[in-house]
Amino acid sequence: MLLRRLREIMAEPAPAQLRLDRITVLIAANMVSEVCSLYVMRADGVLELYATEGLNPEAVHVTTLKVGEGLVGLIAESAEALALSDAQTHPQFSYRPETGEEKYHGFLGVPILRGGNTLGVLVVQNRTFRTYTEEEVEALQTTAMVLAELIASGELQSIAQPGTETAARRPLHVRGVPLVDGLGLGHVVLHEPRIVVRNIIATDVEAELVRLETAIGEVRSSIDEMLDRGDIAHGGEHRDVLETFRMFAHDQGWLRRLRDAVSTGITAEAAVERVQNDARARLIRATDPYLRERLHDLDDLANRLLHRLVGRDLVAFRERLPENAIIVARVLGPAALLDYDRQRLRGLVLEEGGQTSHIAIVARALGIPVVSEVENATGLVEQGDAAIVDGGTGDIQIRPPADVEAAYAEKARLRARRQAQYQRLRDTPCVTRDGVEVRLQLNAGLLVDLPHLGETGARGIGLFRTELQFMIAERMPSAKEQQALYASVLDGAGDLPVTFRSLDIGGDKLLPYMPRVEEENPALGWRAVRIALDRPALLRTQARALLKAAAGRHLRIMFPMVATTDEFQRAKRLVEGEVAFLRENRSPLPERVSLGAMVEVPSLLFELDRIAVEADFLSVGSNDLMQFLFAVDRGNKLVADRFDPISLPAIRALRRVVEGAGAASCPVTVCGELAGRPLEAIALVGLGFRQLSMSAAAIGPVKAALLELDTRPLAELIEAELRGGSPDSLRGALAGFAEKNGIPL
Ligand code: PEP
Ligand code: MG
Repeated sequence: MLLRRLREIMAEPAPAQLRLDRITVLIAANMVSEVCSLYVMRADGVLELYATEGLNPEAVHVTTLKVGEGLVGLIAESAEALALSDAQTHPQFSYRPETGEEKYHGFLGVPILRGGNTLGVLVVQNRTFRTYTEEEVEALQTTAMVLAELIASGELQSIAQPGTETAARRPLHVRGVPLVDGLGLGHVVLHEPRIVVRNIIATDVEAELVRLETAIGEVRSSIDEMLDRGDIAHGGEHRDVLETFRMFAHDQGWLRRLRDAVSTGITAEAAVERVQNDARARLIRATDPYLRERLHDLDDLANRLLHRLVGRDLVAFRERLPENAIIVARVLGPAALLDYDRQRLRGLVLEEGGQTSHIAIVARALGIPVVSEVENATGLVEQGDAAIVDGGTGDIQIRPPADVEAAYAEKARLRARRQAQYQRLRDTPCVTRDGVEVRLQLNAGLLVDLPHLGETGARGIGLFRTELQFMIAERMPSAKEQQALYASVLDGAGDLPVTFRSLDIGGDKLLPYMPRVEEENPALGWRAVRIALDRPALLRTQARALLKAAAGRHLRIMFPMVATTDEFQRAKRLVEGEVAFLRENRSPLPERVSLGAMVEVPSLLFELDRIAVEADFLSVGSNDLMQFLFAVDRGNKLVADRFDPISLPAIRALRRVVEGAGAASCPVTVCGELAGRPLEAIALVGLGFRQLSMSAAAIGPVKAALLELDTRPLAELIEAELRGGSPDSLRGALAGFAEKNGIPL
C-alpha cells in the first residue's frame, strides 16, 4: 500500500517540494513515527534536509551535515542502516537546534543507494525509546529504493538552494590509468547494460517468492552444469570464478536477505537490486582488496538472476549505438570491442585491463582512447550520460559542466590541428637535418591496421604481431584462415615490406582456447619461440601459411624471445623444412625468405657476434628487453615505470646491439614502444639506429622530431654522457638538447 501511494504521489503534477512533503507525511504515518526526514546528498558532498514531517519546517534546506558528521552523515558514509532506541546517547549524535529534534529518542535511518552510490539518507524518529524491528528496517530500505529513483531522475534540482546541486546527476571527475592516448567526447554506452528494474511493487508476495526461488534454482543449476561440463575455458569462464559463484549462490545470508526483501512487498527483481545495492555499497568501501574483488562476482551473480527474472525485457543498447559512443565496461575482450561499429566509437573506460593487455593493443590499432583501472566505473554512470575520455592523462569527465566540455572540445580541436600538421608530413621523406635517412615503419597485428600505412606514410610494417589473430579468435585459426590473413596483409602493404613475427604467445598473452599452464613466473616461462620449438606443429603450420601467402614475394619472418643462437637456428630449420616440403610439392614459393631474431632477452646482448651472423636481420623488442634488463614486470604498475629505458645501462645495452649488428652488417630495427616516443626516438637515432617501428599514432610526432635533428652533435652528447654522465642524467641532457635545437617533442 505504502509503495503504491508513494508511486502515485511521485507521479502527481504538483511541484517537487510539495510532493516531497507529502511523501514524508506518508512514510511517517506508515512507520508509526512522529518524524520522517529526507536528506539529499549534494554535489559538494553535503547532506541537506530536503523535506521533513515532524521536525521544524524552517530547518528544510537550512540544516546540513557533512558525510561522516552526525548520525545522518554516518549512514551516508557507511552506506548502512542504523537503528537506535536512543539516538541522543550515540557518540556521533550531532544536535541541530533549528530542527527541534531534542524531543526524539527512537531513530532509524537508511541510506538511499543507487549503483552503490549514496544519493541521500531517509530517517524516521520517535519520541519513545523505540526498538525498530528488522522488518521495519527492511520496509524503510525498500521505501528508500523508490526515493532513489526520484532523486536519480534529477527532478529535485528544481528545488535546490541557489548555487548548489544534488549529487545524483552531478558532474564527476575520476581518474584512471591512461592506456591509449587520444581524446574522446561522447555519450556512455554500458557494455553490459544494467537491467533497469521498473517493476518494483509486488502484487502478490507469495508469487514473487516463488519467482525468486525458481530463478535462484535455475542460476544454481546453470553454474553446476558449467562446472560439470569441464569445458569452462571455452566460455571464457574460469573455474575459480564459477566456484565463487556457486559459493554465493548457496550463501544462506544472501538468500535470506533476498527473501526478506521480497517479503516487504517488492518484486523478485527489485529485491535482487536492493540486496545488490547494499552489497555494492559495502564492498566498494571495503579496504580488503580480496573483498572488493568479490564485488564483481556478486555483481555477475545478481546480473544472472536479473536476466532470468526480466531478461526478456532487456534492450540491446549496442544495436542502437549512438553517434559518439563511450563504452564503459568492467572488462572487455578484444573480440567484443571489434563487435562495435568502429566509426561510432569515441572512447573506452574500463575497470580492469593493463597497459599490455590485448584490449589496449586492439584499441590502439583502432585509434580509440582508453582509460583503465577506473574503480566502479560502471556504477558511476548511467546509459547515455555525457562523458569525456582523456587517454593521455587518464582523466574521465562524467556529465561534464558546460565550461569543462568546452575546454575539452577546444583541446580536441587543437589535437585535430596537430594531426593535420602531421598529415602534411606524410609524404616528406624522414631525413634529418644532416641528411641521415631514418626508416619509420608501423607496428600492426590486425587488418584494421592496414589503412594506417597510407595514412601515415610509414615505409612498411616493421612488426606484425601474428598472435593477435589467435588472441581474438574463439578457437585456433585454421591454416587457411592464417594464410588468408597474411595474404591480405601483404596485398594491403603492396610494395612495402612486412615483417611477420611468429606466434608470441604465453606469458601474458593467453589464448582462450588453449589450456592454461600454471607457471610461477609466466614472463620467464613457456612462451613464444620456446613453445614453437616444443610444439613444432604450431610453427610449421604458421610458417607454411606464411610461405604460401607470400608466394612470389619477399617474406620476412622473425622469432620472438630468442635467448640463444641455437634456438634461432632450430626455429630457422623448422621454416626451412617447410620451404623444402613446399618445393617438393611444387607449391609456389616466396621469391625470397629472410629470417630474423628479436633481441629482447638480455642473453643475446652477449651473443651478438653469433646471432648477427646467423640472422638476416635483428629487431629490438625494447618492451621485453627492458623488462628483463631491469627485472621489472612490464604489466605491473607498481614497478613498470621504475627505471628509465634511456638511462645509461639501457643505452649501453642498446649501443651493444647497434655495434654488434653493424660489425656483421646485419640490419637492425627497434620495434618496442621506445621507438614511438620522440625523445627516445632521437636517442635511438643518435645511437646509430636507422630503422624504427612504432604505432601509427607515433609516426607523425617522431618524424616531426627527426626532421629537426642534427645527429652529429647528438651522437657526441650521448658519447659524453656514456663516458662521464650520471646514470639518469641522459634524459635531462636530451631534453635540453631538443629544446635548444627546436626539436618538437
Ligand atoms: C617488445 O617486447 O618490445 C615487443 C615489440 O614485443 P611485444 O610488445 O609484443 O612483447
Ligand atoms: Mg616482446
